[in-house]
Amino acid sequence: MDGYADLHLHTTYSDGVFTPEQLLKKVSEVGISAISITDHDSVDGYIQALKYLDKYNIQLIPGIELSCIENGKEIHLLGYNIDPDNKILKNHLQDFRNGRYKRAEQILQKLKNLQRPVNFSLVLEKAGEAPITRPHIAMAMTELGYTSNLKEAFVLYLGDDKPAYVSKANFSIERGIKLINQSGGLAVLAHPARMIQPDTLYKLIKSGLDGIEIIHPTHDLATQKYYQSIASQYWLLETGGSDFHGNREYDEENLGKFIVPLSTVESIKIHSVR
Ligand SMILES: [Zn+2]
Ligand SMILES: [Zn+2]
Repeated sequence: MDGYADLHLHTTYSDGVFTPEQLLKKVSEVGISAISITDHDSVDGYIQALKYLDKYNIQLIPGIELSCIENGKEIHLLGYNIDPDNKILKNHLQDFRNGRYKRAEQILQKLKNLQRPVNFSLVLEKAGEAPITRPHIAMAMTELGYTSNLKEAFVLYLGDDKPAYVSKANFSIERGIKLINQSGGLAVLAHPARMIQPDTLYKLIKSGLDGIEIIHPTHDLATQKYYQSIASQYWLLETGGSDFHGNREYDEENLGKFIVPLSTVESIKIHSVR
């Protein structure tokens, strides 16, 4: 499988279970030669991975998966070949982290009022290197025996409109596209089938979207073809990857199967500003 890339992977710096080095080892074992680590709202995993590229002989493209909000719903935007040292990007990521920290405090206050106290330090422990998200709180709740699993924690307490829900800070996908472009990178809509209505997609293309993720475990062949036709109609970049986290169903089988040719990596490099 030499000459292929997986452009959507997560590490312990967001919600993945493998460290950047462990991830590099895993992808090299399945024969992938180029990757992008696209942690949620963090470039720290990318920076860590740089140390091990020679050891595993992997080409690494700077990447990120930004959390954006559109009509109250979360939409994910991939950023490729961004400059991880860009000031505007760094400020946004710090603001994001601070916002998630405050939100977690508010959720814990609500849980306390519901007679389900959770210690903040336990949530921090679950988050590790990553910005705090609801699954980290759900893990803490499950460990404390309030719920039997993460899903139940969402259904009973943490899900949208449930009693301990606190809304996320509003960061529109247009702002996300602009931020990625300002950081020298290309903005690619992640797994559109999971998240987006056709109207919204056309709006984003008008706002300067650079590409669409075509290859993804949630896209069957018909879905791939559908988005491919839109991408070629509007001259958008077509990307793909496994969205590997290491702890999801079929993750291990998917690694090495959701790939794009190395020419996609070359296109990213040619078309990004840097
Ligand atoms: Zn995503
Ligand atoms: Zn992802």
